[in-house]
Amino acid sequence: MTTASTAAGRTQTSGPETADVVVVGAGFSGLYALYRLRGLNLKVVCFEAGDGVGGTWYWNRYPGARVDIESMQYSYSFDDDLQQEWRWPEYFSPQADLEDYANHVTDRFGLRDLIRFNARVNRLRYDERAGRWDVSTERGDRVIARYVIAASGALDATNIPDFPGLESFRGEWHHTSQWPKEGVNFEGKRVGLIGTGSTGVQATTAIGKTAGHLYVFQRTPAYSLPANNRPLPADYELDWKSHYAERRSVMHANFALGYLPVQQHGSVFDYTPEARTQILEQAWQQRNGLLFLRTFTDTMLSLEANEIVAEFIRGKIREIVKDPETAELLCPKTYPVGTKRICMDTGYFETFNNPNVTLVDVKSNPITEITPSGLRTTAGEYDLDILILATGFDAVTGSLTRMNITGVGGVDLREKWAERPTNFLGYMVAGFPNLFMIHGPGSPGVLAQMITGGEKQVDWVTGVITDLDRNGYASIDTTQEAEQDWGAEMAEMAAKTLYQHANSWYVGANIPGKPRYFMIYIGGFDQYQKRCDEQVGKGYEGFVLARNEVRAGDEVPTGDEVPAGDEQRPA
Ligand code: NAP
Repeated sequence: MTTASTAAGRTQTSGPETADVVVVGAGFSGLYALYRLRGLNLKVVCFEAGDGVGGTWYWNRYPGARVDIESMQYSYSFDDDLQQEWRWPEYFSPQADLEDYANHVTDRFGLRDLIRFNARVNRLRYDERAGRWDVSTERGDRVIARYVIAASGALDATNIPDFPGLESFRGEWHHTSQWPKEGVNFEGKRVGLIGTGSTGVQATTAIGKTAGHLYVFQRTPAYSLPANNRPLPADYELDWKSHYAERRSVMHANFALGYLPVQQHGSVFDYTPEARTQILEQAWQQRNGLLFLRTFTDTMLSLEANEIVAEFIRGKIREIVKDPETAELLCPKTYPVGTKRICMDTGYFETFNNPNVTLVDVKSNPITEITPSGLRTTAGEYDLDILILATGFDAVTGSLTRMNITGVGGVDLREKWAERPTNFLGYMVAGFPNLFMIHGPGSPGVLAQMITGGEKQVDWVTGVITDLDRNGYASIDTTQEAEQDWGAEMAEMAAKTLYQHANSWYVGANIPGKPRYFMIYIGGFDQYQKRCDEQVGKGYEGFVLARNEVRAGDEVPTGDEVPAGDEQRPA
């Protein structure tokens, strides 16, 4: 708040800082949002919790962190000079290369000045009287904005299970997504790692190389496939760079926003057992994980077809891992392959052949507590110097529900989403006008390539904002009916797939008490984009547009005082 004296001697109060748009998060989607919004001459402020850009690729700096989509594709498409000039050293980039890229883009397009770092948003309050969002951060920033774009990340809110005694541990412990920048030295140390999802698989492979002894505490084994990562050959890079325009347009029209020039072999059942094994063997050698799943057309649609592919993978694990008991423990048997995010590795199963790596089954013998000197299960005790939690995220909704968001009538988003994360088109929640989500529930999110998906979602949102401004509307909301219809459309599609058969973060099953609901739009990004554009084309059907007293450029009535009892709460 600033004050100034008028000529008449009265003290005039000027309210908090104002902006057209607040962007939450300087990850890849947030950065692109800044680029687009600045191009529209809108005043934009970005709050970023970290002290650097990159979002997921800023936070997840654990050993072995690497993307599972080829970098020639998993990169921005909005600027041809950028994609021609930038050089990716490997097919699948490690975290450090992705963070470098995020920094390069930030500086190349002059976005850094728009970002306030170390500023975690801990309050988003819709002020109905002003028709504005009142945005606060933990460190005390406050901005009043017409719009908010929550690019806060689908895999951002850390899941730290409630292990009794964790705080008593005398060694060091880290969650993989809050990894210290200075790194961790594992030389000669007794290390415990809990969790064997994509993160645990990558971290195990890397840490197993240097730890004195690594204990991997596994509750559910993962299907992991070879990444076939390698340095990017110059001719491959050249081929991509000379065909970027057409390949990006193929990607933009693809269900997963990918360029997937792979042959699909029809149904598993079109082949004899010998022939299908031969096809799968070839795919195992040549394809990375996500493409491997596309070898046959019915892997994700039929339990019987899926089991054949799953058993092939189990056969590979039994071939690689020398100790039969360990091999059997590493074989996933309780859920169909692909219904949890498939993992990709570079020698994960081989790691368990090393004498300094031990697999511990915490499904049969659960963890009971963390002790000052290590970890206790119902079967034994493990002395540890370092404990790593690769226990994942309160995915998709967590970054939003942890922000203390209240909409019209003071309704708390957490209450609104108590049963399921209702939304329309994955962009808006009824009663929370002018708040747009990127990669939120109801969008294709992680089931499509997320950098390109983020670009397309941001383009859609900025298109809407432009449309509203041009036509004199001040706000956009959606309705409960539209949310219900969208929920039904999503559920109908999800029911045709096998995704419901796994206790994954896709359905919120990894977080105690979180409603079980398939949160992701599964119809493909191409179909999703079509649906979103259709609603706009039909005069914003399913939305409520309002012209109200506040217009772009007007003096903002700030609703300055936070109502009693509504003071900032910690996130
Ligand atoms: P995750 O897939 O949710 O895996 C968490 C792991 O922790 C699971 O093995 C889980 O076991 C275990 N766990 C959680 N609570 C536990 C407890 N109380 N006791 C014992 N074990 C417990 O999380 P993530 O591995 O971080 O991966 C999340 C997503 O991030 C991935 O699915 C992927 O989309 C993305 N990701 C991508 C990459 C990449 O691009 N290469 C790398 C890392 C992550 P249960 O399965 O039994 O619950």
